[in-house]
Amino acid sequence: MGKGQIVKLRPPKITPETISQKIISTRPMRDGKFNISVNERARKTLVHCYGHGGSGWATLFGSIERAIELFETRGPDKRSPIHVVGSGCMGLTSAIELARRGYKVAKITTKSLFDIPFWDAGGYFAIVSVKTSTEEQLHLNELGMRSFLVYKQIEEGKHPYLSSKAVRNIPVYCHAHTEAGIEDLEVRGLIPSRKEVTLDFGNGVLHPDYLKYMTYYMNVTELMKQLRKEVKRLKIPIEIRELHTFDELQEENIFNCTGLGSRTLNKDASLIPVRGHLITLNSAAGVGHMDYMIYTSVLQEGKEEYIYLFPKDFTVSTTHQQGVACMGVLGGTFIQNVDRLSAKEERELDQQEFRRMLDRHSLFFQGRPY
Ligand SMILES: Cc1cc2nc3c(=O)[nH]c(=O)nc-3n(C[C@H](O)[C@H](O)[C@H](O)COP(=O)(O)OP(=O)(O)OC[C@H]3O[C@@H](n4cnc5c(N)ncnc54)[C@H](O)[C@@H]3O)c2cc1C
Repeated sequence: MGKGQIVKLRPPKITPETISQKIISTRPMRDGKFNISVNERARKTLVHCYGHGGSGWATLFGSIERAIELFETRGPDKRSPIHVVGSGCMGLTSAIELARRGYKVAKITTKSLFDIPFWDAGGYFAIVSVKTSTEEQLHLNELGMRSFLVYKQIEEGKHPYLSSKAVRNIPVYCHAHTEAGIEDLEVRGLIPSRKEVTLDFGNGVLHPDYLKYMTYYMNVTELMKQLRKEVKRLKIPIEIRELHTFDELQEENIFNCTGLGSRTLNKDASLIPVRGHLITLNSAAGVGHMDYMIYTSVLQEGKEEYIYLFPKDFTVSTTHQQGVACMGVLGGTFIQNVDRLSAKEERELDQQEFRRMLDRHSLFFQGRPY
């Protein structure tokens, strides 16, 4: 038995009857570092803010602050309108923050309002699934820290346009050998020190050598609704259109927040699509698992795989624009460059990943394969 206190947790029930949806989504990861930069092109000022991989929500506010700081080094005229491209969390927050600083945001142009990865995010506040060079790590930690402080403000009800309904400070349990993605917050004293624990699911399943941290669960569906409401309140129009070149826009100032779309729009070959598979649960799965998170690596058939469980309670997609209630989300795949596969190979991969994911989650929570 490992060291530390026994933590009794209620596991989700995972059976064919408790599964609500199987979702496939893609993280916009950039090799080396996110692109937060400013440049001039054909007398236009282009501010880029994309490539946040699996941590776009966890670095959101720090990234936007940085992008606006860079924009302001060019001494922009507040009367000169700005065009924001992309309506993910980066695009909407850029538009709002620019408007709050007195800039004129002419429009947000976006390819899609619903078929976007940010709706699918798990909601774990941590820096994970980013491919960052060692030199960039400090910069990344800084963006994470700045964003963490804004989530704290939201939790305390002190944020100007996002309410405390959108975040919860809850425990996350990770195996001692898993990088939790929040170690830097612990070093900076922003979260309590880790505790060694043994997880007890009350069904004979015990997991020794786990660590308990406290961090934020970001309810991304709620955050998204609140961001969209604020954009509407500020009367910033949203146009649905796919851009093929920035020359299509007349404004001199452009904020490019197109995530993976920047592969073609900004001719950026460093972007890597990282596919994630998610399974949402329904109310028959129980409710006891809605008060904690799991983010951990495990060995499955000799290969390191991930298990995550987050208390997501609502999903939104192109087919369910009004949303569907759920009782938690299971996940944990990070598969690069699936777009290089044929349609048949992609289908087979997805089926296999869902099957393997259900097996490892069932084993982890219930002590038996699915
Ligand atoms: C399965 C999964 C789990 C995740 N879990 C977490 C998590 O727990 N915590 C966390 O912090 N993050 C998580 N993320 C990551 C997070 O969702 C992304 O980092 C975030 O969505 C990136 O936001 P964005 O606004 O940069 O890009 P996107 O959300 O990709 O939005 C890009 C926007 O640009 C538009 N666009 C693209 N091309 C064009 C074009 N040519 N013309 C016009 N518009 C265009 C798109 O329509 C879209 O509106 C997860 C992601 C996935 C897929």
